[in-house]
Amino acid sequence: MSLLIHGGIVVTSHRVGPATLYVEGERIARVGKASAKSAETFNANGLLIFPGVVDAHVHFALPVAGTRSADDFHTGSLAAAAGGVTTFIDFTLGHPEVSLPEAVERRLSEARVSVVDYSFHAEMVGWRPERLWEIPAVRELGVRSFKFYLAYSDSGRRTSLGDLKVAMEAIREIGGVAMVHAEADELVDQKGGPFPWARPALSEEVAIAEVGILARRTHCTTYVAHISSASGLSALLSARSAGAPLLGETCPHYLLLDESVYSRPDGHLFSVTPPLRTREDQEALWRSLARRRLQAVATDHCPFTRAQKDPYREHPERIPSGLPGVETLLPLLFSAGVGSGRLRPSDLAWLLSEGPARAFGLWPKKGAVQPNSDADLVFIDPKATWTIHAKDLHMAVDFSPYEGFSVRGKIVGVLSRGEWVYRDGEILARPGRGKFIPWQK
Ligand SMILES: [Zn+2]
Repeated sequence: MSLLIHGGIVVTSHRVGPATLYVEGERIARVGKASAKSAETFNANGLLIFPGVVDAHVHFALPVAGTRSADDFHTGSLAAAAGGVTTFIDFTLGHPEVSLPEAVERRLSEARVSVVDYSFHAEMVGWRPERLWEIPAVRELGVRSFKFYLAYSDSGRRTSLGDLKVAMEAIREIGGVAMVHAEADELVDQKGGPFPWARPALSEEVAIAEVGILARRTHCTTYVAHISSASGLSALLSARSAGAPLLGETCPHYLLLDESVYSRPDGHLFSVTPPLRTREDQEALWRSLARRRLQAVATDHCPFTRAQKDPYREHPERIPSGLPGVETLLPLLFSAGVGSGRLRPSDLAWLLSEGPARAFGLWPKKGAVQPNSDADLVFIDPKATWTIHAKDLHMAVDFSPYEGFSVRGKIVGVLSRGEWVYRDGEILARPGRGKFIPWQK
Protein backbone atom coordinates (compact mmCIF):
# COMPACT_ATOMS: atom_id res chain seq x y z
CA MET A 1 0.00 0.00 0.00
CA SER A 2 1.19 3.53 -0.71
CA LEU A 3 -0.13 6.84 0.52
CA LEU A 4 0.53 10.38 -0.62
CA ILE A 5 -0.05 12.99 2.10
CA HIS A 6 -0.23 16.55 0.88
CA GLY A 7 -1.27 19.96 2.13
CA GLY A 8 -0.15 19.55 5.76
CA ILE A 9 2.49 21.28 7.86
CA VAL A 10 5.16 18.81 8.96
CA VAL A 11 6.61 19.40 12.43
CA THR A 12 9.98 17.98 13.49
CA SER A 13 12.38 18.99 16.25
CA HIS A 14 14.26 21.32 13.92
CA ARG A 15 11.80 22.35 11.24
CA VAL A 16 8.17 23.32 10.76
CA GLY A 17 6.86 23.74 7.24
CA PRO A 18 4.68 22.47 4.43
CA ALA A 19 5.78 19.18 2.92
CA THR A 20 4.35 16.34 0.93
CA LEU A 21 4.99 12.89 2.37
CA TYR A 22 5.05 9.70 0.39
CA VAL A 23 4.51 6.54 2.41
CA GLU A 24 5.33 3.20 0.87
CA GLY A 25 4.33 0.16 2.88
CA GLU A 26 5.33 0.66 6.50
CA ARG A 27 7.85 3.43 5.90
CA ILE A 28 8.20 7.02 4.82
CA ALA A 29 9.71 6.86 1.34
CA ARG A 30 10.05 10.54 0.51
CA VAL A 31 9.63 13.93 2.17
CA GLY A 32 9.27 17.11 0.14
CA LYS A 33 8.12 17.38 -3.43
CA ALA A 34 6.95 13.81 -3.60
CA SER A 35 4.48 12.62 -6.17
CA ALA A 36 3.21 9.19 -7.11
CA LYS A 37 0.69 8.14 -9.68
CA SER A 38 -0.81 5.06 -8.12
CA ALA A 39 -0.97 6.16 -4.52
CA GLU A 40 -4.01 6.74 -2.38
CA THR A 41 -3.96 10.39 -1.30
CA PHE A 42 -4.75 12.10 1.97
CA ASN A 43 -5.42 15.80 2.03
CA ALA A 44 -3.92 17.21 5.23
CA ASN A 45 -4.90 20.79 4.50
CA GLY A 46 -5.01 22.83 7.71
CA LEU A 47 -3.45 20.00 9.76
CA LEU A 48 -0.16 19.74 11.60
CA ILE A 49 1.69 16.46 11.07
CA PHE A 50 3.80 15.35 14.04
CA PRO A 51 6.01 12.28 14.30
CA GLY A 52 4.22 9.52 16.23
CA VAL A 53 4.64 10.00 19.97
CA VAL A 54 7.04 7.72 21.85
CA ASP A 55 5.76 7.45 25.43
CA ALA A 56 8.88 6.21 27.22
CA HIS A 57 7.15 5.39 30.50
CA VAL A 58 3.93 3.38 30.87
CA HIS A 59 2.77 0.61 33.19
CA PHE A 60 0.13 -1.59 31.60
CA ALA A 61 -1.02 -4.64 33.60
CA LEU A 62 1.27 -3.78 36.52
CA PRO A 63 0.71 -5.86 39.66
CA VAL A 64 0.93 -3.46 42.61
CA ALA A 65 -0.45 -3.30 46.15
CA GLY A 66 -2.48 -6.51 45.71
CA THR A 67 -4.17 -5.27 42.52
CA ARG A 68 -3.27 -4.49 38.91
CA SER A 69 -3.11 -1.21 37.03
CA ALA A 70 -6.45 -0.87 35.25
CA ASP A 71 -5.23 -0.95 31.65
CA ASP A 72 -3.83 -4.11 30.14
CA PHE A 73 -1.81 -4.15 26.91
CA HIS A 74 -4.99 -4.16 24.84
CA THR A 75 -6.94 -1.28 26.40
CA GLY A 76 -3.75 0.64 27.12
CA SER A 77 -2.64 0.39 23.52
CA LEU A 78 -6.09 1.48 22.27
CA ALA A 79 -5.77 4.58 24.44
CA ALA A 80 -2.25 5.08 23.09
CA ALA A 81 -3.46 4.85 19.46
CA ALA A 82 -6.22 7.39 20.10
CA GLY A 83 -3.67 9.69 21.75
CA GLY A 84 -1.15 9.60 18.91
CA VAL A 85 1.25 7.38 20.85
CA THR A 86 2.54 4.97 18.21
CA THR A 87 5.27 3.49 20.43
CA PHE A 88 5.19 2.99 24.17
CA ILE A 89 7.89 1.65 26.45
CA ASP A 90 6.66 -0.51 29.31
CA PHE A 91 8.66 -2.45 31.91
CA THR A 92 9.43 -6.08 32.54
CA LEU A 93 8.46 -7.27 36.03
CA GLY A 94 11.60 -7.60 38.13
CA HIS A 95 11.78 -10.36 40.73
CA PRO A 96 14.59 -11.82 42.88
CA GLU A 97 13.88 -15.30 41.47
CA VAL A 98 13.34 -14.41 37.81
CA SER A 99 16.27 -13.75 35.49
CA LEU A 100 16.11 -10.65 33.30
CA PRO A 101 15.91 -12.64 30.01
CA GLU A 102 13.08 -14.73 31.45
CA ALA A 103 11.27 -11.55 32.57
CA VAL A 104 11.61 -10.11 29.04
CA GLU A 105 10.15 -13.28 27.49
CA ARG A 106 7.20 -13.23 29.90
CA ARG A 107 6.40 -9.58 29.22
CA LEU A 108 6.70 -10.08 25.46
CA SER A 109 3.95 -12.67 25.60
CA GLU A 110 1.68 -10.38 27.67
CA ALA A 111 2.20 -7.47 25.27
CA ARG A 112 1.32 -9.46 22.16
CA VAL A 113 -2.25 -8.05 22.04
CA SER A 114 -1.05 -4.47 21.60
CA VAL A 115 -2.41 -2.44 18.68
CA VAL A 116 0.67 -0.17 18.48
CA ASP A 117 4.41 -0.79 18.74
CA TYR A 118 6.24 -1.14 22.02
CA SER A 119 9.55 -1.73 23.70
CA PHE A 120 10.68 -2.54 27.25
CA HIS A 121 12.88 -1.36 30.08
CA ALA A 122 14.20 -4.19 32.27
CA GLU A 123 13.01 -3.58 35.81
CA MET A 124 15.74 -4.26 38.37
CA VAL A 125 13.92 -5.48 41.45
CA GLY A 126 15.70 -7.92 43.71
CA TRP A 127 18.65 -7.87 41.30
CA ARG A 128 22.10 -8.56 42.79
CA PRO A 129 25.63 -8.24 41.32
CA GLU A 130 25.82 -12.09 41.15
CA ARG A 131 23.39 -11.69 38.25
CA LEU A 132 25.71 -9.46 36.23
CA TRP A 133 25.63 -11.86 33.23
CA GLU A 134 21.95 -11.00 32.72
CA ILE A 135 22.72 -7.47 31.53
CA PRO A 136 24.56 -8.49 28.31
CA ALA A 137 22.06 -11.36 27.96
CA VAL A 138 19.05 -9.05 27.64
CA ARG A 139 20.98 -6.84 25.24
CA GLU A 140 20.76 -9.82 22.86
CA LEU A 141 16.97 -9.64 23.22
CA GLY A 142 16.92 -5.97 22.22
CA VAL A 143 16.58 -4.49 25.71
CA ARG A 144 19.25 -2.05 26.80
CA SER A 145 17.61 0.17 29.43
CA PHE A 146 17.34 -0.86 33.07
CA LYS A 147 15.04 0.62 35.69
CA PHE A 148 16.18 1.08 39.29
CA TYR A 149 14.30 2.33 42.32
CA LEU A 150 16.06 4.30 45.02
CA ALA A 151 12.80 4.31 47.01
CA TYR A 152 10.53 1.53 48.28
CA SER A 153 12.89 -0.37 50.57
CA ASP A 154 9.72 -1.39 52.44
CA SER A 155 8.55 -3.51 49.48
CA GLY A 156 12.05 -4.69 48.52
CA ARG A 157 12.18 -2.68 45.31
CA ARG A 158 15.09 -0.45 46.33
CA THR A 159 18.56 -1.01 44.83
CA SER A 160 21.47 -0.03 47.08
CA LEU A 161 23.90 2.56 45.75
CA GLY A 162 26.60 -0.14 45.80
CA ASP A 163 24.63 -2.52 43.58
CA LEU A 164 23.58 0.38 41.38
CA LYS A 165 27.19 1.32 40.76
CA VAL A 166 28.09 -2.24 39.72
CA ALA A 167 25.10 -2.39 37.37
CA MET A 168 25.89 1.02 35.87
CA GLU A 169 29.39 -0.12 34.96
CA ALA A 170 27.94 -3.14 33.14
CA ILE A 171 25.25 -1.03 31.43
CA ARG A 172 27.89 1.38 30.21
CA GLU A 173 29.77 -1.60 28.70
CA ILE A 174 26.76 -2.54 26.54
CA GLY A 175 26.02 1.07 25.54
CA GLY A 176 22.75 1.10 27.47
CA VAL A 177 20.92 3.43 29.83
CA ALA A 178 20.20 3.25 33.55
CA MET A 179 16.74 4.65 34.29
CA VAL A 180 16.24 5.75 37.87
CA HIS A 181 13.27 6.42 40.12
CA ALA A 182 15.00 9.07 42.18
CA GLU A 183 13.62 9.46 45.69
CA ALA A 184 15.96 9.01 48.65
CA ASP A 185 14.25 6.45 50.82
CA GLU A 186 15.55 7.78 54.13
CA LEU A 187 13.83 11.10 53.48
CA VAL A 188 10.44 9.55 52.76
CA ASP A 189 7.81 8.84 55.41
CA GLN A 190 6.80 5.30 54.35
CA LYS A 191 3.56 5.47 56.33
CA GLY A 192 2.43 8.78 54.93
CA GLY A 193 1.36 7.64 51.47
CA PRO A 194 2.01 9.17 48.06
CA PHE A 195 1.55 12.78 49.14
CA PRO A 196 3.91 15.75 49.28
CA TRP A 197 4.00 15.93 53.08
CA ALA A 198 5.37 12.35 53.16
CA ARG A 199 7.52 12.42 50.01
CA PRO A 200 9.16 15.86 49.96
CA ALA A 201 10.99 17.40 47.02
CA LEU A 202 14.12 17.15 49.16
CA SER A 203 14.09 13.35 48.75
CA GLU A 204 14.10 13.83 44.98
CA GLU A 205 16.88 16.41 45.07
CA VAL A 206 19.13 14.20 47.23
CA ALA A 207 18.55 11.08 45.12
CA ILE A 208 19.26 12.91 41.85
CA ALA A 209 22.47 14.34 43.32
CA GLU A 210 23.57 10.81 44.36
CA VAL A 211 22.72 9.32 40.98
CA GLY A 212 24.50 12.21 39.27
CA ILE A 213 27.73 11.39 41.09
CA LEU A 214 27.47 7.71 40.17
CA ALA A 215 26.72 8.57 36.54
CA ARG A 216 29.70 10.92 36.38
CA ARG A 217 32.05 8.35 37.90
CA THR A 218 30.83 5.34 35.88
CA HIS A 219 30.17 7.28 32.63
CA CYS A 220 26.87 5.43 32.41
CA THR A 221 24.12 7.39 30.63
CA THR A 222 21.41 7.76 33.24
CA TYR A 223 17.79 8.78 32.65
CA VAL A 224 16.02 10.31 35.62
CA ALA A 225 12.33 9.38 35.43
CA HIS A 226 9.41 11.62 36.45
CA ILE A 227 11.16 14.73 37.75
CA SER A 228 8.54 16.52 39.83
CA SER A 229 10.24 19.48 41.50
CA ALA A 230 12.30 22.58 40.82
CA SER A 231 14.93 21.38 43.29
CA GLY A 232 15.13 17.95 41.64
CA LEU A 233 15.53 19.67 38.31
CA SER A 234 18.34 21.89 39.56
CA ALA A 235 20.11 18.86 41.03
CA LEU A 236 19.95 17.30 37.55
CA LEU A 237 21.27 20.42 35.84
CA SER A 238 24.16 20.89 38.28
CA ALA A 239 25.18 17.24 37.99
CA ARG A 240 25.06 17.59 34.23
CA SER A 241 27.23 20.66 34.24
CA ALA A 242 29.69 18.79 36.44
CA GLY A 243 29.97 16.21 33.65
CA ALA A 244 27.34 13.60 34.53
CA PRO A 245 25.68 12.06 31.43
CA LEU A 246 22.15 12.62 32.75
CA LEU A 247 18.92 12.62 30.76
CA GLY A 248 15.68 13.80 32.32
CA GLU A 249 11.95 13.21 32.04
CA THR A 250 8.92 14.91 33.51
CA CYS A 251 5.24 13.98 33.21
CA PRO A 252 2.09 15.88 32.22
CA HIS A 253 0.67 15.75 35.76
CA TYR A 254 3.64 17.68 37.18
CA LEU A 255 3.11 20.32 34.48
CA LEU A 256 -0.66 20.64 34.70
CA LEU A 257 -1.72 19.79 38.25
CA ASP A 258 -0.51 20.92 41.65
CA GLU A 259 -0.81 19.83 45.26
CA SER A 260 -3.99 21.85 45.83
CA VAL A 261 -5.98 18.89 44.39
CA TYR A 262 -5.23 16.89 47.55
CA SER A 263 -7.65 19.04 49.55
CA ARG A 264 -10.52 18.18 47.20
CA PRO A 265 -13.06 15.57 48.37
CA ASP A 266 -11.75 13.26 45.64
CA GLY A 267 -8.13 14.23 46.33
CA HIS A 268 -7.14 10.61 47.05
CA LEU A 269 -7.73 9.77 43.36
CA PHE A 270 -4.68 11.93 42.53
CA SER A 271 -2.30 9.67 44.46
CA VAL A 272 0.87 9.40 42.41
CA THR A 273 4.58 8.93 43.15
CA PRO A 274 6.37 11.30 43.26
CA PRO A 275 3.43 13.42 44.39
CA LEU A 276 2.14 16.61 42.77
CA ARG A 277 3.93 19.73 43.95
CA THR A 278 3.60 23.53 43.87
CA ARG A 279 2.88 26.06 41.12
CA GLU A 280 6.51 27.21 41.36
CA ASP A 281 7.68 23.67 40.63
CA GLN A 282 5.39 23.57 37.61
CA GLU A 283 6.78 26.80 36.24
CA ALA A 284 10.38 25.63 36.64
CA LEU A 285 9.56 22.44 34.73
CA TRP A 286 7.85 24.32 31.88
CA ARG A 287 10.85 26.63 31.55
CA SER A 288 13.20 23.65 31.32
CA LEU A 289 11.09 22.18 28.52
CA ALA A 290 11.21 25.38 26.49
CA ARG A 291 15.01 25.27 26.76
CA ARG A 292 15.04 21.56 25.89
CA ARG A 293 16.90 20.70 29.05
CA LEU A 294 14.86 17.53 29.43
CA GLN A 295 14.77 14.71 26.89
CA ALA A 296 11.18 13.60 27.32
CA VAL A 297 7.74 14.22 28.65
CA ALA A 298 6.36 10.74 29.35
CA THR A 299 3.21 9.77 31.17
CA ASP A 300 4.09 7.15 33.81
CA HIS A 301 0.61 5.91 32.83
CA CYS A 302 -0.48 3.69 35.72
CA PRO A 303 -4.20 4.12 36.25
CA PHE A 304 -6.43 2.76 38.98
CA THR A 305 -10.20 3.02 39.06
CA ARG A 306 -12.23 4.68 41.80
CA ALA A 307 -13.09 1.20 43.08
CA GLN A 308 -9.39 0.46 43.40
CA LYS A 309 -8.52 3.71 45.18
CA ASP A 310 -11.65 4.53 47.22
CA PRO A 311 -11.20 1.85 49.93
CA TYR A 312 -7.88 3.42 50.95
CA ARG A 313 -9.09 6.99 51.44
CA GLU A 314 -8.28 6.66 55.15
CA HIS A 315 -5.24 4.40 54.64
CA PRO A 316 -2.86 6.49 52.53
CA GLU A 317 0.01 4.04 53.05
CA ARG A 318 -1.90 1.35 51.13
CA ILE A 319 -3.49 3.36 48.31
CA PRO A 320 -2.44 2.28 44.79
CA SER A 321 -0.39 5.10 43.37
CA GLY A 322 -0.52 6.24 39.76
CA LEU A 323 -2.45 8.27 37.19
CA PRO A 324 -3.71 7.70 33.65
CA GLY A 325 -2.11 9.77 30.90
CA VAL A 326 -1.20 8.01 27.66
CA GLU A 327 -4.29 9.13 25.76
CA THR A 328 -4.16 12.80 26.75
CA LEU A 329 -0.38 13.41 26.64
CA LEU A 330 -0.16 14.99 23.19
CA PRO A 331 -3.44 16.96 23.26
CA LEU A 332 -2.71 18.41 26.71
CA LEU A 333 0.89 19.33 25.92
CA PHE A 334 -0.16 20.80 22.59
CA SER A 335 -2.88 22.87 24.22
CA ALA A 336 -1.10 23.97 27.39
CA GLY A 337 2.35 24.15 25.80
CA VAL A 338 1.98 25.32 22.20
CA GLY A 339 -1.48 26.88 22.61
CA SER A 340 -0.30 29.08 25.47
CA GLY A 341 2.96 30.03 23.73
CA ARG A 342 5.18 28.28 26.30
CA LEU A 343 6.53 25.84 23.72
CA ARG A 344 7.05 25.87 19.98
CA PRO A 345 5.55 23.00 17.98
CA SER A 346 9.10 21.81 17.24
CA ASP A 347 9.80 21.55 20.99
CA LEU A 348 6.89 19.15 21.23
CA ALA A 349 8.31 16.99 18.41
CA TRP A 350 11.54 16.87 20.44
CA LEU A 351 10.02 16.16 23.86
CA LEU A 352 7.40 13.63 22.78
CA SER A 353 9.09 11.86 19.88
CA GLU A 354 12.71 12.50 18.97
CA GLY A 355 14.10 12.94 22.52
CA PRO A 356 12.67 9.70 23.94
CA ALA A 357 13.38 7.76 20.71
CA ARG A 358 17.03 8.84 20.84
CA ALA A 359 17.32 8.14 24.58
CA PHE A 360 16.17 4.55 24.16
CA GLY A 361 17.78 3.44 20.90
CA LEU A 362 14.70 3.75 18.69
CA TRP A 363 15.83 6.73 16.58
CA PRO A 364 15.40 7.24 13.63
CA LYS A 365 13.15 4.23 13.08
CA LYS A 366 10.78 5.91 15.55
CA GLY A 367 10.29 9.58 16.42
CA ALA A 368 11.38 10.93 13.02
CA VAL A 369 9.74 12.18 9.84
CA GLN A 370 12.36 11.31 7.25
CA PRO A 371 12.93 8.76 4.51
CA ASN A 372 13.22 5.20 5.84
CA SER A 373 11.64 5.99 9.20
CA ASP A 374 8.52 4.07 10.14
CA ALA A 375 5.44 5.91 8.87
CA ASP A 376 4.20 6.76 12.37
CA LEU A 377 2.41 10.10 12.02
CA VAL A 378 -0.12 12.11 14.00
CA PHE A 379 -2.47 14.58 12.33
CA ILE A 380 -3.68 17.42 14.52
CA ASP A 381 -6.29 20.03 13.78
CA PRO A 382 -4.74 22.94 15.69
CA LYS A 383 -7.95 24.99 15.76
CA ALA A 384 -10.44 22.37 16.99
CA THR A 385 -11.44 22.62 20.63
CA TRP A 386 -12.86 19.93 22.88
CA THR A 387 -13.31 19.09 26.55
CA ILE A 388 -11.80 16.10 28.33
CA HIS A 389 -14.30 13.68 29.86
CA ALA A 390 -13.17 10.32 31.18
CA LYS A 391 -16.23 8.65 29.68
CA ASP A 392 -15.12 9.60 26.14
CA LEU A 393 -11.61 8.17 26.53
CA HIS A 394 -10.49 4.64 25.70
CA MET A 395 -8.56 3.97 28.90
CA ALA A 396 -10.04 1.39 31.27
CA VAL A 397 -10.40 3.88 34.10
CA ASP A 398 -13.45 5.80 35.25
CA PHE A 399 -11.86 9.12 36.04
CA SER A 400 -9.41 11.51 34.43
CA PRO A 401 -7.26 13.89 36.47
CA TYR A 402 -8.00 16.36 33.65
CA GLU A 403 -11.80 16.02 33.71
CA GLY A 404 -13.36 19.19 32.33
CA PHE A 405 -10.10 20.62 30.96
CA SER A 406 -10.75 22.37 27.70
CA VAL A 407 -8.20 21.59 25.04
CA ARG A 408 -7.29 23.38 21.84
CA GLY A 409 -5.97 21.00 19.20
CA LYS A 410 -7.54 17.67 18.35
CA ILE A 411 -6.04 14.50 16.94
CA VAL A 412 -7.89 13.62 13.75
CA GLY A 413 -5.79 10.73 12.50
CA VAL A 414 -2.91 8.45 13.48
CA LEU A 415 -0.80 6.31 11.18
CA SER A 416 1.26 3.48 12.60
CA ARG A 417 3.71 1.90 10.15
CA GLY A 418 1.64 3.25 7.27
CA GLU A 419 -1.67 1.94 8.60
CA TRP A 420 -4.49 4.11 9.97
CA VAL A 421 -4.97 3.04 13.57
CA TYR A 422 -7.20 5.98 14.49
CA ARG A 423 -9.25 8.28 12.31
CA ASP A 424 -12.04 10.76 13.05
CA GLY A 425 -12.74 9.39 16.49
CA GLU A 426 -12.65 5.74 15.55
CA ILE A 427 -10.02 3.13 16.40
CA LEU A 428 -9.19 1.04 13.35
CA ALA A 429 -6.38 -1.11 14.71
CA ARG A 430 -6.68 -4.79 15.38
CA PRO A 431 -5.20 -6.41 18.49
CA GLY A 432 -1.81 -7.96 17.87
CA ARG A 433 -0.72 -5.68 15.02
CA GLY A 434 1.72 -3.88 17.34
CA LYS A 435 5.32 -5.11 17.22
CA PHE A 436 8.12 -5.27 19.73
CA ILE A 437 10.78 -2.78 18.62
CA PRO A 438 14.23 -3.75 19.89
CA TRP A 439 16.93 -1.21 20.66
CA GLN A 440 18.36 -0.36 17.21
CA LYS A 441 22.01 -0.68 16.05
ZN1 LIG B 1 6.65 4.52 36.56
